[in-house]
Amino acid sequence: MLKEIGIVDKVNGPVVNAVKVHSVEMMELVEIGDEHLIGEIIELNEDRATIQVYESTTGLKPGSSIRGTGAPLSVELGPGLIGNIYDGIQRPLRQLFEHTGNFITKGIKLFPLNEEKLWHFIPQVRKGDYVSPGSIIGNVSETPLFEHRILMPPQIEGEIESIQKEAEYTVKEPIARVKTPMGIREITMAQHWPVRYARPFLRRLIPDEPLITGQRVIDTFFPMAKGGTAAIPGGFGTGKTITQHQLSKWCDADIIVYIGCGERGNEMTGVLMDFPKLMDIKRGRPLMERTILIANTSDMPLSAREASIYTGITIAEYYRDMGYDVALMADSTSRWAEALREISGRLEEMPVEEGFPAYLASRLAKFYERAGRVHTLCEKTGSVSAICAVSPPGGDFSEPVTQHTKRFVRCFWGLNKELASARYFPAIHYMDSYSEYLGLVQNWWAEKIDSEWKVVRDEAMEVLREDFKLQRIIKLIGEDALPDNQRLVLAEAELLKNAFLQQNAFDSVDMYSVPQKQFLMLKVIIYFYYRSKYIIKDNIPLCRILQLPVLNEINRMKEKISNTECEQFEHLLKAIDIQMNELQKESMVIL
Ligand code: ADP
Ligand code: MG
Repeated sequence: MLKEIGIVDKVNGPVVNAVKVHSVEMMELVEIGDEHLIGEIIELNEDRATIQVYESTTGLKPGSSIRGTGAPLSVELGPGLIGNIYDGIQRPLRQLFEHTGNFITKGIKLFPLNEEKLWHFIPQVRKGDYVSPGSIIGNVSETPLFEHRILMPPQIEGEIESIQKEAEYTVKEPIARVKTPMGIREITMAQHWPVRYARPFLRRLIPDEPLITGQRVIDTFFPMAKGGTAAIPGGFGTGKTITQHQLSKWCDADIIVYIGCGERGNEMTGVLMDFPKLMDIKRGRPLMERTILIANTSDMPLSAREASIYTGITIAEYYRDMGYDVALMADSTSRWAEALREISGRLEEMPVEEGFPAYLASRLAKFYERAGRVHTLCEKTGSVSAICAVSPPGGDFSEPVTQHTKRFVRCFWGLNKELASARYFPAIHYMDSYSEYLGLVQNWWAEKIDSEWKVVRDEAMEVLREDFKLQRIIKLIGEDALPDNQRLVLAEAELLKNAFLQQNAFDSVDMYSVPQKQFLMLKVIIYFYYRSKYIIKDNIPLCRILQLPVLNEINRMKEKISNTECEQFEHLLKAIDIQMNELQKESMVIL
């Protein structure tokens, strides 16, 4: 039975003012009224408090009782998270649906993990071993290919007094007893953690390993690192959601946490319908077996949306702590910021830029700070990569959420409206994007793929920059006025854009390119450029070079050559040589 800590005085949307408040702490979770609405104390002033309520407050009356739970907003962590769909405060949506149907009844509380499911626990410690928070005490197979490491919960340290033998247990049954200075503590496979606090680790590591996404414009030009932070800003319809879906499907993280945050419900339906059918190409298992979904769509309560990104990142940190690479997607942080603005407005706080509260920047900073590559408490390497969509109104990047986000992320994939309306996808514009991880991940590419990677990549980038400059000149004087060597730059940039940067998320071959394929494709395109530059000097007209049949093959290689047929790029390089040599011979005869 929970104790009353105050009563409702005023109800203002998701914000409730309480009076006669006592025996409660800041950030404590409370239950309100007969419907047991869940809320969080966000302001406390003598005997008055302000509560942010995670459910619709319609029908809630002044005078209703408020009861304290004694704990802050927390998530339940343990085997069974994977494959689940939660709302912003970790209520399991499938189970809620079974309980209440399409419309969630208010005040329903369900344990987020399956309480009856038996997990095959294999102990990793023995009686007498010393364990501390974060130590691995055993493991279970959470999905056929995923080993869930059972970690010691926070704040418990001591000697193992007894540990269960290998067998099947539920998340509620004790699996170990630990002798601590405060007495014997029983340990289960589930633990909880307050979502607004970062989980601890030993130390931060340099994020020098790329997060391979299979998207060429990202991996080759603006690479993301494991443990990095990235933003995908773009106006409506520019491809934010599709990019995040692509990354969730193909990036080489062990676990994906996907937060649908304030966007339309049908986009989340896309994820729910799509993902279970998709297979992980490397492991041949359904992608859902590494995915956790958090859905707080635009039609769901606003304050739960505010909480959803914390719920998501806490779950991500939990898997990181086991020594895994986790990628977190949030679509979109602008909708999250709007929830913050709405709540702040109801609190009558002083707004700053465009009505957002002054603490918008610090909240964003605190969130992105929780990403990183770390040495975990169990002495393993784990990472949380945060990849967040930003939807600036009208696609205008100068608005506050995009600007503040830019300060805290190190990778910025700017989506461009013109490219998207020309159906040029991904619409990541090479002049509006950057990655500060380039220097950090280049050794990985040199060692694992090819020592020439950086040279080839930089050459391609240089061509694109040169093209950008030339395009302005063309607008003034027209393309015909340019000499052949400059028109070659334009032609090469065109080739890069069509044959390399453009990538179709719906083509079964093109949707994902392994790093080897990405490098060889770029090498072919750059080799074509080198050879052309050379023979143009021999006065061979550019139009002859652009008629070479190999150009057609280069333009189609992304769809024609699959990830397992990389040797075919050698044929293309040879074909370039043969056809260029012939052109040269021909011209010599004419001369
Ligand atoms: P946003 O989330 O920015 O509003 P979406 O991600 O929903 O935009 O993309 C809008 C549309 O653009 C998609 O329905 C799809 O047709 C197209 N699109 C976006 N990215 C790609 C891609 N990589 N390949 C092919 N089509 C794409
Ligand atoms: Mg979208």
